[in-house]
Amino acid sequence: MSAAKQNTDGRLGLMLTELRLPTIKRLAAEICDQSDREGWPARQLLERVLEQEMAEREVRRLERNRMASCLSSDKRLSTFDFTAVPMVSKAHILSLAEGQEWLDRGANLLAFGAPGSGKSHLISGIGHALIDAGRRVLFTRCSELVQRLQAARRDLRLPQELAKLDRFDLLILDDLSYVRRDQAETSVLFDLIAERYERKSIAITANTPFSQWGDVFADPAMTVAAIDRLVHHSTILEMNVESYRRRSASQQKPPRPPNAPKK
Ligand code: ADP
Ligand code: MG
Repeated sequence: MSAAKQNTDGRLGLMLTELRLPTIKRLAAEICDQSDREGWPARQLLERVLEQEMAEREVRRLERNRMASCLSSDKRLSTFDFTAVPMVSKAHILSLAEGQEWLDRGANLLAFGAPGSGKSHLISGIGHALIDAGRRVLFTRCSELVQRLQAARRDLRLPQELAKLDRFDLLILDDLSYVRRDQAETSVLFDLIAERYERKSIAITANTPFSQWGDVFADPAMTVAAIDRLVHHSTILEMNVESYRRRSASQQKPPRPPNAPKK
């Protein structure tokens, strides 16, 4: 057994456990052996050990952020077929996914299109890419979030609930059009939009154009004010294509059995 291995089993190991440095504990023996073999200066050894700890902490942080995001793991940009939505520029989407300057400005992203056109998948893919870049994202069905905020308002803790959402650089509100028309509900949605305006980004998917958002926000003045804030700094993606599901289903019609009678 090498001297380094004995060390991590003994006092060094106990100290690393106590200090909660599991990565260093796991790698210490190997790195110390390499350092002994190659005669590293002490500083190089220290740097190497701490680099490993920092790298693993970053990986764990991204994993935690991904878990907390509630994003579907399979809805990535790598699995999104851009040829299905020719009106959406892949280069533009990649620039939103890679450059995060729009998040620093609190700009928004709005995706419109019929059910099945790929809105949720595309926005989720951008969400995953932003998590890879170290940002915090939350994906939620708009109607569920509205219910949660409504319950918070009843319990007089709406400000606290909105503050919790502030931790996220991007809030994805999926399916705005399914929010029920109800004054109390939609005004919490307005509060959320107003609270994040020009500070923190929101991405929204919707089956209905702005002209029908009056069905979501019961009061016309509130509808105009909400749309105004959302649109002021925003990218709008119009995905006017037929449902991807329907298209792939029609392309996968089962082949005719070899001895089926000819029609
Ligand atoms: P929407 O949110 O517009 O209703 P979804 O994003 O939920 O549509 O897409 C419906 C289904 O089709 C999902 O399983 C999604 O992964 C898939 N899909 C849609 N568009 C694409 C695309 N361009 N490339 C790959 N899969 C797609
Ligand atoms: Mg959707």
